[in-house]
Amino acid sequence: MNAIHPPPHKPLVDRYGRHVTYLRVSVTDRCDFRCTYCMGEDMTFLPKSEVLSFEEIQTIVGAFVARGVRKVRLTGGEPLVRRDIMKLITAISETHLAAGALDELTLTTNGSQLAKHAETLAGLGVKRVNVSLDTLDGARFTEITRRGRLPQVLDGIEAAQAAGLGVKINMVAMRGVNEDEIVPMLEWAHGRGFELTLIEAMPLGDVALDRTETHLSLREVRDRLSERFTLDPIAKRTGGPARYMRVAETGGTLGFITPFSHNFCESCNRVRLTCTGQLYMCLGQDDRVDLRDALRTKGPEGLDAALDRAMILKPKGHDFVIGRTHTDPALARHMSVTGG
Ligand code: SAM
Ligand code: SF4
Repeated sequence: MNAIHPPPHKPLVDRYGRHVTYLRVSVTDRCDFRCTYCMGEDMTFLPKSEVLSFEEIQTIVGAFVARGVRKVRLTGGEPLVRRDIMKLITAISETHLAAGALDELTLTTNGSQLAKHAETLAGLGVKRVNVSLDTLDGARFTEITRRGRLPQVLDGIEAAQAAGLGVKINMVAMRGVNEDEIVPMLEWAHGRGFELTLIEAMPLGDVALDRTETHLSLREVRDRLSERFTLDPIAKRTGGPARYMRVAETGGTLGFITPFSHNFCESCNRVRLTCTGQLYMCLGQDDRVDLRDALRTKGPEGLDAALDRAMILKPKGHDFVIGRTHTDPALARHMSVTGG
């Protein structure tokens, strides 16, 4: 597909020579779950007037694609709870994916609405989805998500597989919460042909959860897994914070997302758009550019200039540290703002 599409006349390259080719779009800050590590129990969500319209998202996605972005991931909040979300996915698919201007359109979801939408997504050219699943125990699932029901998510995952979508399971690993389920989850996921990626919890936003108590280093997890499984590093690189291993015993792929290590920043290829049009150039920094304002006040040219500004501002790396007490958030915004 690359072959039939000429390179963009003005690719997005930052001060460190990194090409931005991957855009993550949070389409809503709302969610039907309240995962303990992600949100507070009582969240105040944004008024609709502040949230980008589908038209605006389409325009912004178009501006990025014109400048060389090849992959778009929709996230949130929960992307599939935004009203009429399939209209947006259809529009992006028809405009960019079908034309070969985009290599991949995908989403990260909690899976609660996947049973309803999996087939349509596959029909629109979505090839795979990331589904967040931290436990296979029903009661624990409801505890972690505060509102979710496990069977609904498992049905969604099954529907995705039946529709031919590749499934990657994202599991946030937490000490004393679900660390005993890492092996069962690995066996369950790989037994069904799903990739599994473990995520180290990041200190984003104030939540009720005590991050010191639940913090679990993935280095420790990897060491423990190595006693039982043969983990062979594989070359797969996504330009993000994940490192991948092949598990010899299961034949499956296991990813580790360790946000505190800096070893991914030099190959970072991504930026994140919030549902209010703020573009964050780094998950671990507060620098941002207001694309909504640029678009609303200065139109497409203003938007293009804002993308140039963003490339100048993209920082070399992140500054994550768990706060002095390990419970203070390193950044005030919740993960649901940028969508992971
Ligand atoms: N609602 C969707 C979902 O849960 O997949 C998409 C948005 S959610 C914010 C994206 C990913 O971020 C999920 O895999 C979730 O587990 C992860 N996440 C949320 N808060 C996190 C935190 N503080 N640290 C690490 N990962 C987090
Ligand atoms: Fe919702 Fe996803 Fe955050 Fe859970 S992790 S509260 S599902 S946005």
